[in-house]
Amino acid sequence: MLNIEDIWAKACNILQREVTAVSYDLWIRSLAPIDYSEGVMYLSTSSESAKARVLKLHYGQIKEALNEIEPQIIDFKVLDPLERDNYFKKLEEQSLEKPAETNPIFNFNNKYTFDNFVVGNSNKYVYAAARGVAEHPFDKINPLFIYGGVGLGKTHLLHAIGNYLKQNRPELKVLYVTCEKFTHDYIESLKSSKSQANAEYRDKYRNNIDVLMIDDIQFISNKAGTQEEFFHTFNDLYQKGKQIIIASDRNPKEISNLEERLKSRFSMGIMQDIQVPDYETRLAILQKKAQQERYSVSDEVISLIAEKCDTNIRELEGMLGKVCFYASLLGKPTATLEDVNEALKDIINTSKQNLTADRIIDCVCKYFSVTKDDLVGKKKNKEIVEPRQICMYLICEMLDLPLVSIGEIFGGRDHTTVIHAREKVSDLIKENNRIKIAVSDIKSMANRV
Ligand code: ADP
Ligand code: MG
Repeated sequence: MLNIEDIWAKACNILQREVTAVSYDLWIRSLAPIDYSEGVMYLSTSSESAKARVLKLHYGQIKEALNEIEPQIIDFKVLDPLERDNYFKKLEEQSLEKPAETNPIFNFNNKYTFDNFVVGNSNKYVYAAARGVAEHPFDKINPLFIYGGVGLGKTHLLHAIGNYLKQNRPELKVLYVTCEKFTHDYIESLKSSKSQANAEYRDKYRNNIDVLMIDDIQFISNKAGTQEEFFHTFNDLYQKGKQIIIASDRNPKEISNLEERLKSRFSMGIMQDIQVPDYETRLAILQKKAQQERYSVSDEVISLIAEKCDTNIRELEGMLGKVCFYASLLGKPTATLEDVNEALKDIINTSKQNLTADRIIDCVCKYFSVTKDDLVGKKKNKEIVEPRQICMYLICEMLDLPLVSIGEIFGGRDHTTVIHAREKVSDLIKENNRIKIAVSDIKSMANRV
């Protein structure tokens, strides 16, 4: 059976040569293989707009690259997060019999090493924990649970551990899978009535393994069967003294519909968060990246990008690539501030189109760890009133909606309540640093493409 991860990694090597660095960083890198069926490869991506972009810009190139690596693949489909969930649901429902896949041998991305990871205040603890596991697996840090927002370096650290182990402990069997892959393999093993497929699955995840890394575990929410299986896999490996490393985009407490017993398993070892990098760290990351990619770019350009792009390292890098790309289009030897403005304009415009009240509400909920029902509901405790007012403020500021409609969104509140919230928060921003930071962080989150 096809090893989709390997095929995709090889196709990426081709694509990296064929498309511009910026396009690769922005659109192709966020694709992940999730399935192959009857000549079609299924790739997931982070949003609807990312899907539209990648299909518009690179459909032909991706198709050709996949076909070149694996002639069986004649087409591919990109699924946005909702479609991906539905796809998995459908798979779970179907009981078609298909042969299970053989064990993939995962190649760690050799750019994702500890040496290439810039350490700053936002990530020094998580870096220390990851390094600790790499140097002393099976010891105290087990499991290691890393969590934090998108594009902050979780996958980079998992690969860094993998690369380190591959080099220093080549005898160890290290398996890195995304949660999607784990789910997929589990479903495949269920679908197959052959006991051989089940045995292969068990060998892969329980017997033939020393270190198991699962990335993006948050996708396990709402998948009861997979949670159950993961729970048993976890216990089995843990009892045998194997190392488990997990990454998630949020704290287990915030993963909806995650079984309590899994939450408690996750917290048995070290749980470490990774924060948004501060300005100095962003600067250092950009400098390192410019050096790696041999970009010619002035210090002031780097400072400006570090200032403007403050929530996501993937975007930070993408922005640098984009700025250098604009400069090269104009035949300039070095990127200048003008190129930054041009690149920023594009990002700001695309995100404006996608911005909706729902998106702002989602970001506020995520930031304050509150539910949408509470946010737009009637509760009056401070923990909920403050996020609600900030949310109203942001919707007023960021969207062109009538006040009455904003009141409607919040459970039919009067427009004067919206005005009050807007005024209150705009006063608070001036005197309360915490609120100021929250507002600016949520704005950046919502503006993310
Ligand atoms: P996540 O898995 O948290 O969404 P990734 O690990 O994919 O994020 O990181 C996104 C990009 O940012 C990658 O290209 C990664 O190499 C880079 N990156 C993240 N953190 C750092 C860091 N501290 N130093 C250098 N590069 C980083
Ligand atoms: Mg990741």
